[in-house]
Amino acid sequence: MNTLEQKRHFDAIIERIERARIRVSEHHIVKIVAASKYVDAQAIRDLYSIGQRAFGENKVQDLKIKADLLEELPLEWHFIGTLQKNKINQLLGVHPHMIHSIDSLELALALQERLSRENQTLRALVQVNSAYEETKAGFMPEEFSDKYAQIATQCPNLHLQGIMSIGAHTDDRAIVQKSFETTRSLFEQLPDATVCSMGMSGDFELAIECGSTLVRLGSILFKHK
Ligand SMILES: *Cc1c(COP(=O)(O)O)cnc(C)c1O
Repeated sequence: MNTLEQKRHFDAIIERIERARIRVSEHHIVKIVAASKYVDAQAIRDLYSIGQRAFGENKVQDLKIKADLLEELPLEWHFIGTLQKNKINQLLGVHPHMIHSIDSLELALALQERLSRENQTLRALVQVNSAYEETKAGFMPEEFSDKYAQIATQCPNLHLQGIMSIGAHTDDRAIVQKSFETTRSLFEQLPDATVCSMGMSGDFELAIECGSTLVRLGSILFKHK
């Protein structure tokens, strides 16, 4: 794709987001994080050049490599994958804008320890497994609110902004919708939360209609046929 084609493709996606957003409310704002795990630094540069600023990676090593290569650009990096405790130092070295995937109290405490030692803070979302799938990370919906409060109290250097989840892995739209509604209702009970991160290439319009404020788009942006 040349730049013009890429711009048209991107505009068409933004148009779809706009239509879903307006169905919720004219005041409802949705942010795009481009999940760039499929592509190299040059493809990120290309998308940046047509207006995208926020990018998400799910592996610390890849985030580090791409952030270093693109250091001169004012990009906003999101960490969206499962974080292993032995990668915490490397992640914090990149100074990401936000981590979406706090999925255990242990991880939160380990981050807190490192952050306080470095006198650093980090915006964070707590992940919920609202689809109740064994393969997915995150707290169960029943325990979510308590865990969120616990993390907020015990980890002052993690600045909690809200919730993240991955929609149910099925073609049954009603089940996907139910998982998004579960996430949204937990989000609404959180004190001072502003970010409800849900929706990917296959389900972002439904996620927005269920109240998502941030969609993480990968294949639809980067893997067009
Ligand atoms: C890859 C990834 C996405 C984007 O997935 P697509 O279906 O390609 O849009 C979103 N969230 C997370 C956590 C991911 O790892």
